[in-house]
Amino acid sequence: MTDSFAPILPGAVVGVLGSGQLGRMFAIAARQMGYRVHTFSPETDAPTGQVADVEITAAYHDLDAIRDFARNVHVLTFEFENVPAPAVEAAAQFAPVRPSGSVLHTTQHRLREKSFLVRNGFPVAPFRPVNSLDQLRSAVEEIGCPAILKTAVSGYDGKGQARLTKSADAEAAFAATGNQEKILEAFIDFELEFSIVAARGFDGTFSHWGLIENTHRHHILDLSFAPAHVPQATSVQAVEIAKDLLETLDVVGVLCIEFFLTRNQKIFINELAPRPHNSGHLTINAAVTSQFEQQLRAVCGLPLGATDFLSAAAMANLLGDLWQDGEPNWVAAAYPDVKLHLYGKDEVRPGRKMGHLTALAAGADAAVERVLHARKRLSNR
Ligand code: AMP
Repeated sequence: MTDSFAPILPGAVVGVLGSGQLGRMFAIAARQMGYRVHTFSPETDAPTGQVADVEITAAYHDLDAIRDFARNVHVLTFEFENVPAPAVEAAAQFAPVRPSGSVLHTTQHRLREKSFLVRNGFPVAPFRPVNSLDQLRSAVEEIGCPAILKTAVSGYDGKGQARLTKSADAEAAFAATGNQEKILEAFIDFELEFSIVAARGFDGTFSHWGLIENTHRHHILDLSFAPAHVPQATSVQAVEIAKDLLETLDVVGVLCIEFFLTRNQKIFINELAPRPHNSGHLTINAAVTSQFEQQLRAVCGLPLGATDFLSAAAMANLLGDLWQDGEPNWVAAAYPDVKLHLYGKDEVRPGRKMGHLTALAAGADAAVERVLHARKRLSNR
C-alpha cells in the first residue's frame, strides 16, 4: 500500500506490533486522544494488551494473522524493532506502516545500521563485520583493544556482547556470543552517554526534547535526566545530526539516537531505536508533549506537539531486582512530586524492566537526587 497523506483522526484504530511497556505507554497516550488501539504479539495479557481495545496473540511469522490484524486498523506502528521483515511487508499491504519497513530493516541489524551511518557521514566508532574466528582475529588487529564484540541482531541491554581487553580474548569472546553474524566495535572511552529522542511528522517537521543524559548499570539503562550536562556547542551539533539522520532515513514517527561523548567533546552514535525509548520516559511527566503522544501524532499525520519541558526531570528504572525481598514499599515512595509508572508485568525477573519513577525539580541534579532517594525508599520495607 503506498503511503499517502490523509490525517488519521481520533476515533480511528492504531495498530501496534509488539506489546511491551513502550506499546502500553503509547496506548495510554492514544486512548487519551480518543483513538482505539489494537496490539499484536505472541503474548497474552501483555503490558500493551492490558490497556489496548483489542489484543491479538499470534506469532510474528503467522502472516495470515498479521494480514487480518492489519485489515482492521487505519495505521500501524511498532514498539519493538525486531518484528521480522516479512510480517511488516504483509501488514503494509493493508495499512500504512510508520516508520516504514525500510527504517526497521536498517535499524534492526547492527551491521546494516552502522554501514548506513558511515555511508552517510555520521560519526560512529570504527567497526568490522565478523563471521568467523579468523575474521575476528584480523578485525582485532585492525581495530585494536579494548573492543566490543556484538551480535548483529536481537541484542539489547548488553545481551549478546563480549568485551575484549587483549587480542588473546578473541576465542572466548567469539564463543560467548554464539554462532551468528557479529560486529566488532572499537571501545569508546566516553565521558558520558546521552540520547536524543526525536520525531518527524508526515510533512517533514522535526522535533526533539534536547539532550537526555543516561547512566547504565550492567549494560541496562538505570537513570536518565534532562537537561544533560553537555556544553551548548556539542548539543547544537548533536541535534543537527539527529535532524539529518531522521531526514536521511525518511522517518515518520519517533526515533532515538544513543550517543557517546568523549572528554575532548567528540561525539559518536552508538545505536538507533526507531521508536520511543526508555530514556524518553521522563517526557511523560516533564514535557508538554510526551514521546508517546508525539509518536501517535507523527504516525497519524497530525501536527507534532510542543516539546518544551515544564521543568528539569530525572527517571530511574525499576528492575525486577527490586522485588527480590518481596513487593516494594509503594507507600514509602508516594512522594507528592515523584511519579510512579508500572508496566503490569506479573513475572518478576532480575534485570527485567518492571516500571520507572520520574521526579521533577528546579534542576537536573536535584531531580536525580530526588528520584534516587524515592527509589531507595522502595526497598525500605
Ligand atoms: P548497546 O546494547 O550497544 O546499546 O550497549 C549497551 C551499553 O554498553 C552502552 O550504553 C554502553 O554503556 C556500552 N557500550 C556499548 N558499545 C560500546 C562501545 N563501543 N564503547 C564503549 N561502551 C560501549
